[in-house]
Amino acid sequence: MVATELHASLFIGLGNMGRPMAINYAAGRELFVYDTNHVAAVEVATVTRSTALPDLEDIPAHVRTVILMLPNSRIVESVLRTSPGLLKRLPAGSLIIDMSSSEPESTASLAAEAAALGIDYVDAPVSGGVAKAKTAKLAIMMGGEITAVERAKRHLRHLGESITHVGPAGTGHAAKALNNLLSATNLAAAAEILSIAATVGIAPEKMLEVINGSTGRSQASEVKYPRHILTGTFDSGFAMDLMLKDLKIARNLIEQRSSEAPIVLTAQETAVKARELLEGPQPDHTEFVRYYEKLNGTPLRAG
Ligand code: NAD
Repeated sequence: MVATELHASLFIGLGNMGRPMAINYAAGRELFVYDTNHVAAVEVATVTRSTALPDLEDIPAHVRTVILMLPNSRIVESVLRTSPGLLKRLPAGSLIIDMSSSEPESTASLAAEAAALGIDYVDAPVSGGVAKAKTAKLAIMMGGEITAVERAKRHLRHLGESITHVGPAGTGHAAKALNNLLSATNLAAAAEILSIAATVGIAPEKMLEVINGSTGRSQASEVKYPRHILTGTFDSGFAMDLMLKDLKIARNLIEQRSSEAPIVLTAQETAVKARELLEGPQPDHTEFVRYYEKLNGTPLRAG
């Protein structure tokens, strides 16, 4: 079924990422928004002149596209299968786009269930964090059937700068987890190098300047360290526990294939150890570096 302007969209999950994404997505379309935190839904609805649903029991009949930006696969499964079970509530011809960082196997199985009901299902996780969600410059990696992916692209072009279709349903989520494993490895590796540099008398901001003009640079060294770590703010908006979820998904992918990946797997194990040291319910993922500060006794802050 081809979406027309008579059809509306529903955006579910309005947290750190979903809120700015829903705001960008709302432009020029009829939108319903939902979050278990109803206050968050009302706030987004007010900004976008959309409608906050108090629950998902009575979805307006003309909703044909549902975008999910939820914490994990268990929650995605519950929303789609059981509570309230959107797969059974949406008409054939609908489109579901899961933009959360979910588990590839779960996604493949949900996509098969959706297909049996005549519903298109696409995984379209994102990279770039809250900053790029706000400026609609996310990198989006998609998995799904080509016709569903082309249909979903029309919805996602206002959210992302680069959109890459990587393969069948679930492969977008696999690509996302593998990217985040590399990203976390870069974050940890830079912490190790900055700590050692400090022991030879090179201040973290000086060493970072060297790295960012040299071949050792990465998004961690160019963005995370100057903005969120050397400042001591640790405010990227991406929780350590969400990062650990991604790393576990990537670890499972590696182990299921009996692949050898000693460096990235060590980074995942180190991140698990680092989490044990962190206090508070929702430490930011950039607080990973506190582990190295403790290990080496060298603070990674601008002097
Ligand atoms: P978040 O915890 O800030 O937001 C999640 C939202 O989902 C919350 O508002 C919560 O109330 C809502 N929610 C939970 N259960 C729900 C349910 N059953 N029905 C409706 N709403 C429900 O998380 P986030 O940082 O926005 O991340 C969302 C997803 O995006 C995660 O899968 C994460 O791994 C991924 N992601 C996050 C970032 C980032 O920088 N924060 C970057 C890329 C990808």
